[in-house]
Amino acid sequence: SFGDTEAQREVRQNDRDYVFHSWSAQNLISPMPIAKGEGVRFWDYDGNEYLDFSSQLVNLNLGHQHPGLVKAIQEQAGRLATIQPAIANDVRGELAKRIVEHSFEGARSVFFTNGGADANEYAIRMARHHTGRQKVLARYRSYHGSTATAITMTGDPRRWANGVIDANVVHFFGPYTYRSEFHAETPEQETERALQHLEHTIQLEGPSTIAAIILETVTGTNGVLPPTPGYLAGVRALCDTYGIVMICDEVMVGFGRTGEWFAYQGYDVKPDLVTFAKGVNSGYVPLGGVVISEAIHETFGDRAFPGGLTYSGHPLACAAGIATFDVFEDEKVLENVRDLGERVVAPWAAEMVAKHKSVGEARGKGLFWALDLVVDRETREPLVPYNAAGEAAAPMNAVIAACKQAGLVPFAHFNRMQFAPPLIIGEEDLVRGLAIIDEALTVADGYYVG
Ligand code: PLP
Repeated sequence: SFGDTEAQREVRQNDRDYVFHSWSAQNLISPMPIAKGEGVRFWDYDGNEYLDFSSQLVNLNLGHQHPGLVKAIQEQAGRLATIQPAIANDVRGELAKRIVEHSFEGARSVFFTNGGADANEYAIRMARHHTGRQKVLARYRSYHGSTATAITMTGDPRRWANGVIDANVVHFFGPYTYRSEFHAETPEQETERALQHLEHTIQLEGPSTIAAIILETVTGTNGVLPPTPGYLAGVRALCDTYGIVMICDEVMVGFGRTGEWFAYQGYDVKPDLVTFAKGVNSGYVPLGGVVISEAIHETFGDRAFPGGLTYSGHPLACAAGIATFDVFEDEKVLENVRDLGERVVAPWAAEMVAKHKSVGEARGKGLFWALDLVVDRETREPLVPYNAAGEAAAPMNAVIAACKQAGLVPFAHFNRMQFAPPLIIGEEDLVRGLAIIDEALTVADGYYVG
């Protein structure tokens, strides 16, 4: 409980003594001990309150301790805590049905995994067996997970130290109008040139060798980059022309983040495979999966799919997934995301560009936003260099510290102030959080030199 310094000391000590942390030099970190979470907030042992504007790792779509999810897990635990995947199970089947019913026309089935990285691994494996081809095209400025093929497909520095684990992955550039790789001046030009670049990549890599193109529908950690107009439809057309499987990685944006069940539904495009995790049950129990098209499902109709997992379709995770659908409907979660995104965040974001010289661009959709921070609007030089660490990252760390000091945890990355609050957030908390970010941006303005 709050003020219990003994408990706090023990939590911290056990963590430091025994827990090996992700992506970290173990001696250089000091993980924050948390005592309690509820809705859009969590508290440390000293009773300091934080607004969770990163939804943990953008998974906590329904907030901490949602009673609907907690109850579903408790009831399922009392009924049947686990059952192996070769068995037909009520909650596993019910969740698969609901996901398919909310997916693209022609979606046929769901393969459940333990999380997002393995969802991508299995999607690629399906595409390879389906096409008889090996190569995969993935984008720079992407994250697809930390397992073998997923980390190789990742287009950010997290791949660098891991080398090339899967030799059949090739990277290409996607659209990013503010920092255009194609010298485009409008989103339309960006779309046209990005698609031309992709087609050239396909042609030079050998269309008959390419199994899949994988892309985050809206790029997440690497910048909250919604696709430019017509881009996804163009990728779909190239996949059709060359017989390539189109995979949308919706691990971060699936289940409401951008105001649709799945983000691709906002762009009128039909993928062949869709990977999901995080928001499917807000991460209350680990769960991910692949939504599979009729054609790919049929590939494995009379021949075995060579893959599986002990916990595929875990009942506790699936029960929380079914409860997620119920909560989305009962609490009109998608409506909340669209309403707050359009009515509150979009005008606020435009105001930030007008008010803070360090905000070069604001972009986003639903409750998923990024402010691209710069030291010079002319050159668009970022507030901190790409992959900055240590002293070079100081300006950004100062902005983040200002947020935390004021009681808000953002989803910042490199030179960008990003945020992704739980989708059940109310207007009052949202406005309070945005005011904290507004104030913290004055710190970024202090580094402006342009
Ligand atoms: N794909 C995307 C777009 C993600 O954002 C993430 C995680 O952040 C993953 C895949 C990997 O998911 P997991 O950490 O559950 O393996």
